[in-house]
Amino acid sequence: MKANSLQALVEQFISEYRGGSLTSWWRKPLVGVAEAQDPLFRVLKRKHGFLLPEEIVNSARSVVVIFLPFAEWIVESNLNPGPASREWALAYLEANQLLTNLADWLAETLEMKGFKSKPIAPTGEFDEEALISNWSHKHAAYVAGLGSLGVHHMLITEEGCCGRLVSIVTEALLNHRTEPLEEACLHKLGFECLKCVAHCQFGALTATKLNKQKCYEVCLSNAKLYIDLGLADVCGKCACGLPCSLKKPTADIERKLFYS
Ligand code: SF4
Ligand code: SF4
Repeated sequence: MKANSLQALVEQFISEYRGGSLTSWWRKPLVGVAEAQDPLFRVLKRKHGFLLPEEIVNSARSVVVIFLPFAEWIVESNLNPGPASREWALAYLEANQLLTNLADWLAETLEMKGFKSKPIAPTGEFDEEALISNWSHKHAAYVAGLGSLGVHHMLITEEGCCGRLVSIVTEALLNHRTEPLEEACLHKLGFECLKCVAHCQFGALTATKLNKQKCYEVCLSNAKLYIDLGLADVCGKCACGLPCSLKKPTADIERKLFYS
């Protein structure tokens, strides 16, 4: 299957999901594919203990990662200090459900073509005490060339960092990333920024570290606030109102350098 037909399948699924009633909640999805044998997966296993693709599907050849970016109005709803906005909490839950269904459907479609495939849900399984998981969508997305991790520990894509991710491991050989990986975070590139740090009023994020326990406490307090919606353990204040919220911030710099 070619990358553009995969993109078309994903776009079609999202536009038809719930009769198209949620299309104004999202922007265009991004689809990336990593080669299952990419040596970066071994580095990630050594460093963070994440599973290798072949530990999920033993004959894995590709890892598909999909990023669903939130619409601008959802991001804008979460700009104020204080608890996460209700819209942000709802978008998180709806995106998780949509991506779970999408990944299940894509895995089934690949299975019907004869390729063993396994979807990994957006929230996945994670250890609530150690706050670690055996799979990281954002790291898989990095290997698939969808973006790089910013100071806020989120993936910065061409469509910014506000959105949700899902992965599918498959034995189908798909067109995978071959281009070199690029840095997208302004601070990491040596420019002045750190707006994400300034937006965390809870002391959980510094320029060099994310205090996961503190961050999770904030997320759980929001979950309590929106208990009527489901388990919305979110915050996202360090993702909104930034140069990297809705686009890759380095695109402007690249444009200036190119035309100067
Ligand atoms: S706000 Fe700035 S420093 Fe923080 S992740 Fe985005 S680009 Fe990097
Ligand atoms: S999600 Fe909230 S608590 Fe966690 S680092 Fe970002 S702003 Fe801070």
